[in-house]
Amino acid sequence: MAKKSRAPAPTPTVYVQLLPMPGTKVLFWAVGECPYCAAKHYHPAGTMQGDPTERLGEVQAPCGNGAYVLALEPRPLRKKGKKGRRRAPWEEADSEDW
Ligand SMILES: [Zn+2]
Repeated sequence: MAKKSRAPAPTPTVYVQLLPMPGTKVLFWAVGECPYCAAKHYHPAGTMQGDPTERLGEVQAPCGNGAYVLALEPRPLRKKGKKGRRRAPWEEADSEDW
């Protein structure tokens, strides 16, 4: 009766960017650098009608090396240059705090 003590490896978090597929309404979460193979990976994020953030969270890396957690990059607070702020359509629903 061998007792295995396997500590679960922490799942790395990767920051993703939302990319639309040109000519379609399909969105992808783009992983800039896979923590396992350093390649770019893409994960389906639904369509413009949906909420792409619902697709964030732990997923399996397409390269098969393990899982990672898709997360949005924390936004730097900009003190100046208020104009030109880009708003994604899905952000407008919860932007009534200003
Ligand atoms: Zn990979």
